[in-house]
Amino acid sequence: MYWNDLNTALKERYGTKVYKLALSSGCSCPNRDGTLGERGCIFCDGAGAFAAAGDIDAQIAAAKERVAAKAGEGAKYIAYFQSFTNTYGDVEQLETLFGRAIAGEDIVALSIATRPDCLGEEVMAMLSRLAAKKPLWVELGLQTIHEESARYIRRGYELAVFEEAVKKLRRIGAEVIVHQILGLPGERVEDMAATTRYIGGQDVQGVKFHLLHVLRGTDLAAEYEAGKVSVLTLEEYIHALEACVRALRRDIVIHRLTGDGAKRDLIAPLWSGDKKRVLNTIHKTFSLHDVEQGTSL
Ligand code: SF4
Repeated sequence: MYWNDLNTALKERYGTKVYKLALSSGCSCPNRDGTLGERGCIFCDGAGAFAAAGDIDAQIAAAKERVAAKAGEGAKYIAYFQSFTNTYGDVEQLETLFGRAIAGEDIVALSIATRPDCLGEEVMAMLSRLAAKKPLWVELGLQTIHEESARYIRRGYELAVFEEAVKKLRRIGAEVIVHQILGLPGERVEDMAATTRYIGGQDVQGVKFHLLHVLRGTDLAAEYEAGKVSVLTLEEYIHALEACVRALRRDIVIHRLTGDGAKRDLIAPLWSGDKKRVLNTIHKTFSLHDVEQGTSL
């Protein structure tokens, strides 16, 4: 059994455990503010909607406090801007914010989630300057390569835009982390594995696998309640995940084997609310089936 997991990769790189500090840039998203769409991706609940960024030093202190019990003395951190589209805002202000976020010696990297269609010239110039200061990770929500699924989830950009974004980010030395959702309506296991294989064919360094969650208040919830979509069982999810891990290029780091859904708003599948049990079952099944990353490229 082998997969290239993030904690091990970070420990090898930094010699200690590294903790993510969840921070807010205050950016919104063009898929929610009316520029591309108003309802966002079909599964997106807009959690933490457009929270004011707040003082970044205070945010860092609060985020450190949240992991203090685990982290202890001498811990290292990644400044992590996860929610919404963190390059969709005033570039000057964002550069100041990100610059301050990575100023501390104990912050070893900057991680920014964004959309491939929000990486214009000015943004790329800013990212390039930031990447010269600290390692930069950029997360892109590809989710699927299948056109029908991409339209259904209202992703709002073409595959070619993603490919161009990866190239631009690699040119400035950023590491690219791609999100894939398993269990999109109509996708068979081989379709999901095809997405993973495609990701491995790009110059990307990390992957996050997510389960399709139905969250309260989303358009997906309305579809689910009308009986138009179904969700995976835990067994089906693990079966699909195994196929994807086997289809993933061996050097790509797996940042997540399952998502971190907001439990409070979770409608389905309810089994995903017990993350500890889910991860334990994944690990046990992977061991039983001797799952090896990259054996089915
Ligand atoms: S791009 Fe991200 S933040 Fe924007 S609607 Fe989609 S999931 Fe939500």
